[in-house]
Amino acid sequence: MPTPSTPPLNPRERILMGPGPSTVPARILRALAAPTLGHLDPQFIEIMDETCQLIRDAYQTKNLLTFPVSGTGMAGMEAVVANLIEPGDEAIVCINGVFGGRMKDNMERCGATVHAIEVPWGETFSNEAIAKAVEKHPNAKMLGIVHAETSTGAHQDLSGLAEIVHDAGMLLAVDAVTSLGGHELKVDQWGIDAIYSGTQKCLSCPPGLSPVSFSERALERIDQRKTKVQSWYLDVSMLKNYYTGSGGRAYHHTAPINMIYALRESLAIVIEEGLENRIARHREMHLLLRKGLEELGFSYIPKRSLCTLNCVALPDGIDDAAIRSRLLSEYDIEIGGGLGVFAGKAWRIGLMGHSATKRNVATLLAALRDVM
Ligand SMILES: *Cc1c(COP(=O)(O)O)cnc(C)c1O
Repeated sequence: MPTPSTPPLNPRERILMGPGPSTVPARILRALAAPTLGHLDPQFIEIMDETCQLIRDAYQTKNLLTFPVSGTGMAGMEAVVANLIEPGDEAIVCINGVFGGRMKDNMERCGATVHAIEVPWGETFSNEAIAKAVEKHPNAKMLGIVHAETSTGAHQDLSGLAEIVHDAGMLLAVDAVTSLGGHELKVDQWGIDAIYSGTQKCLSCPPGLSPVSFSERALERIDQRKTKVQSWYLDVSMLKNYYTGSGGRAYHHTAPINMIYALRESLAIVIEEGLENRIARHREMHLLLRKGLEELGFSYIPKRSLCTLNCVALPDGIDDAAIRSRLLSEYDIEIGGGLGVFAGKAWRIGLMGHSATKRNVATLLAALRDVM
């Protein structure tokens, strides 16, 4: 009997316009295929250093401790929370969708007493509301907030927030998974102490890494910890030796070599395009899509909409699942359904990185006119 062979891997190519991943350009896929090196090979160390510098450039920060966590965006969230929270700490979290809720869960798992402030899904927080919460919970050690809430499409303004948080002696932690590489994001200027993102959203790299950055203020807090970080894998006091070269490039875990190549290439593309041009492109594509969707009867849910994630309420009589499934099967276009309270009531259309093109916007709108 011949042994059965596994058929070759040959997935159909899709236009990825959901909440992530976004379409990965061929140039990044080619970078993935470069020869695998050892994680202590001087050639690779150089590539890693370049990658960390590119992350700094994209985040607009000089923070030394800036590196790609081996894991997706959620691992970045865990890294930030686990390193900054000790059992018994108090923390404040702003919840206006799924990801703020996950931050709270993470903080609680690390032993914090969490004070959540909430606004309805789709809305954002005013600095006044945050100042009130900070005043009410003066013992909190940190405040966590989501810059781009992918579950609702809401775009949180972060300007002026750090002063409120720092004046109260707290650290500011930000989820930038759907904003890095798509929206303005100035880590140093905005006084952010800890931030994480993901590769598969506006960087258009495959999923698997989470670029993070910690300020000096955050590092001081970590140095003063009385307890060990609850996560061995994500403990930055050990990781920093490898990623920054401080105290020698000691082995902690094997860096995901080829994913680092892909991230380096994706960030090189971001810098080549120019941060400002890239942000302007996302905005332009958002406005184009918005005009077309509104003409078709969709309405935007958040008042302050992201450009990178368009969360729209469905017009009456639209069959959510049937239409999304026709878009996928007939047009190879993936868009996202509503999450949580918006399940069945909204769509989430991503315009992230390489997916944010005129061609994709025109194709999606034409397909929608056909299937509706
Ligand atoms: C996608 C996303 C995450 C989680 O990232 P994963 O890569 O799925 O682990 C966290 N926060 C926000 C705002 C996201 O959009």
